[in-house]
Amino acid sequence: MNKFLPPDYHMHTHNSGDSKAPMEEMILSSIKRGLTEICFTEHLDLNYPILPDLPPNAFDLDVESYRNEYLHYKEKYAGQIILNFGVEIGMQDDCVNENTAFIKNGDFDFVIASQHLLNKRDPFYSDFWEADTVDNIFKKYFEVTLEDITYFTDFDVLGHIDYISRYVPKGDHTYSYERYNELIDAILEQLIRHDKGLDLNSKVLAYTDMNLLPNPCPEIIKRFKDMGGKIITFGSDAHTPDRVATHFEDMVDIVRSCGFTEYYTFKKRIPTAHKLL
Ligand SMILES: [Zn+2]
Ligand SMILES: [Zn+2]
Repeated sequence: MNKFLPPDYHMHTHNSGDSKAPMEEMILSSIKRGLTEICFTEHLDLNYPILPDLPPNAFDLDVESYRNEYLHYKEKYAGQIILNFGVEIGMQDDCVNENTAFIKNGDFDFVIASQHLLNKRDPFYSDFWEADTVDNIFKKYFEVTLEDITYFTDFDVLGHIDYISRYVPKGDHTYSYERYNELIDAILEQLIRHDKGLDLNSKVLAYTDMNLLPNPCPEIIKRFKDMGGKIITFGSDAHTPDRVATHFEDMVDIVRSCGFTEYYTFKKRIPTAHKLL
């Protein structure tokens, strides 16, 4: 029996600096997977540091070309799948005004705010982890996230809240919700107070050899629920067509076991609740 799959509200195409996926292939893969609705969330990460394997300004976004392509496929696939126009915006303290203006002018359906960097370093690269102890890095990461969502506020959900746990040095078990619960609770409290939600990100569940937890880890999803959090969206963070809605069956089980009975979709930034069937 086909299990219910919620809409995939986090995916990238060639409009993002780290994806080559044609938009139409992401759509076709979504339809094949049985999805009735998706949201593209292309990267905008201003003032990104220069990295060895990426061109400068790799995460700038040509929003007009993105919009035109989106509108073309929205019309072409009308009646087959609902397409939404979103963005994943990278937070840093040196581009709060630019990010705020970008969202104000962008006419998006949905905005994910994500903390991809700490002190201009990207956790994907080993120099990130060599800068300090793993414990201090996690502490700082959550402190900076809390600070950034205080200054940049025009978003709908916080992306993959414990993102850096994806890239922690192999074999390191420092990270757990319990260890950083005060900082994480402060972030969740702020989201709830401002009617914002969590991006439940299944990306790493596809890395079956690494035994990683989704972002957020289930303890955070449960804590968000217990604190009164309501708004959740499901996201595969797919950068290729084969990863659309990856492990959503498992994510639905996890989310249900944390007590959620509803998920959300967005149109022009307005949230709508749906029963988690
Ligand atoms: Zn991200
Ligand atoms: Zn993403």
